Amino acid sequence: MSEFDFDLFVIGAGSGGVRAARMAAAAGMRVAVAEDRYMGGTCVNVGCVPKKLFVYASSYGEAFEDAQAYGWAGQTDAEFVWPTLRDNNAREVSRLNGIYRNLLGNTGVQIIDGRARLTGRQQVSVGDVTYTAERILVATGGWPFVPDFPGSEHVITSNEVFSLEAFPKRVLVVGGGYIAVEFAGIFAGLGAEAHLSYRRELFLRGFDNDIRRFVRDEMGKKKVNLHFNHEVKSIEKQAGGALKVQAADGSELEVDAVLYATGRKPNTQGLGLEKLGVVLHKDGTIGVDDNFRSSVTSIFALGDVTGGPELTPVALAEAMALVKHWQTGKTAEIDYNNIPTAVFCQPNIGTVGLTEEEARQSGVPVIIYKSDFRAMRHSVSGRDERTLMKLIVDGSNDKVIGAHMVGPDAGEIIQGIAVAMKAGATKAVFDQTIGIHPTAAEEFVTMRTPVSK
Ligand code: FAD
Ligand code: NDP
Repeated sequence: MSEFDFDLFVIGAGSGGVRAARMAAAAGMRVAVAEDRYMGGTCVNVGCVPKKLFVYASSYGEAFEDAQAYGWAGQTDAEFVWPTLRDNNAREVSRLNGIYRNLLGNTGVQIIDGRARLTGRQQVSVGDVTYTAERILVATGGWPFVPDFPGSEHVITSNEVFSLEAFPKRVLVVGGGYIAVEFAGIFAGLGAEAHLSYRRELFLRGFDNDIRRFVRDEMGKKKVNLHFNHEVKSIEKQAGGALKVQAADGSELEVDAVLYATGRKPNTQGLGLEKLGVVLHKDGTIGVDDNFRSSVTSIFALGDVTGGPELTPVALAEAMALVKHWQTGKTAEIDYNNIPTAVFCQPNIGTVGLTEEEARQSGVPVIIYKSDFRAMRHSVSGRDERTLMKLIVDGSNDKVIGAHMVGPDAGEIIQGIAVAMKAGATKAVFDQTIGIHPTAAEEFVTMRTPVSK
């Protein structure tokens, strides 16, 4: 009989925590998971899932317009009804919460509802109850960060945006990363007057420069008002409820909601980590080794709380690698190279591997292929939306080291390209691959003339 209540105590039933708990239980471990807000974590409740549903919602306005040229008359005056989307989303999220709870229960994981804190190196307390565990896994994710400034109490974050009482007709989104770009597109698509404020010259820092410029132009066409080199100084609530936003350059904007999407901070406060000697990085994330072990041998951490790429598939991969490590004793195998990702702005960005700038900096001889075209759908609809595809090739060995796209379903397309890149595909292999016609994706196997060498 073990001296501990559990073999593994997981704090946080988000993407990483649920996967680790289920896999560990399936491997025969006695597992508990504590969750204080919502089963499934950020992704299911206030992240990937509701966001994607809102992106779908926001695409119908254009679809109704485009349908006219295809013979569908009479849909252009369709009206968007916010409570329908909000409530259907809430229902779907609640369905998923139930599925997550069942998945855990069915694998024999004990679910403990409540806020957990570490009260010993092998001890966790939830409310008044204390549990012991041989290993503790901290998978507590992150929380939106809002800078402190006069009027910051009036802003909302991605935590609130899905459940607003009323649809804001004028919205300012602040930030230049994934969430800001996605939500500026969502609000514009749903019919709001959408503004995006970013503090530097061009948003999506870290993405390929061609992609950033292309997205800027496409978002502009979709009537997102882009304010670059723009810093919010203060926000004042007006008598009627509107928000007056004052910028550092002296300009003013009146909107109904301000959404801050200025990054996320790890959920480590109040967990009791420092008291136990767990070393945190300067930004509050938990320092872990290759096997996700913190500076305290019985305490592990993974997912957003460790400061790696904040993506659900990364948290899932880490959870699976960790449990496998526990089962086999071998070093956790996880490859952080070439992680594909999508930004669900409109049109979407899909990207994997090096940007052109990174490739050039790495010193390899770089060959660039690019294709910029109007998707077939719009040859009839007349919409001026364009698609961009870009391949970056290492000229020394012909390997494709970067693939980037802006266009409909870019995430779906880049997922396949990512597999090819993982397998080490060369440009010659891309060229030998026969396309699927007529698709946009076939362009990735038909680009023959480099734009720069
Ligand atoms: P989380 O999923 O955040 O789970 C942590 C859990 O721990 C939470 O449920 C929390 O309530 C719980 N918790 C925290 N502290 C305690 C405590 N003390 N006691 C008990 N429970 C606690 N990623 C993608 O790959 N694709 C996307 O399209 C995408 N879209 C996103 C959109 C938005 C708006 C946001 C905010 C994020 C998005 N992400 C997306 C990122 C993704 O959601 C995260 O990377 C992922 O959820 C991280 O998983 P995690 O397990 O580390 O943490
Ligand atoms: P990001 O880190 O992507 O972007 C944060 C943005 O806020 C940056 O543009 C940053 O500017 C800006 N910023 C930071 N601090 C301030 C400040 N004090 N004042 C003004 N602007 C500021 O964070 P997000 O919040 O957009 O998203 C969090 C993470 O969630 C993402 O990084 C991503 O990993 C994940 N996510 C993934 C999605 C997907 O896979 N599709 C979708 C949504 C989220 P600067 O460039 O100058 O640093």
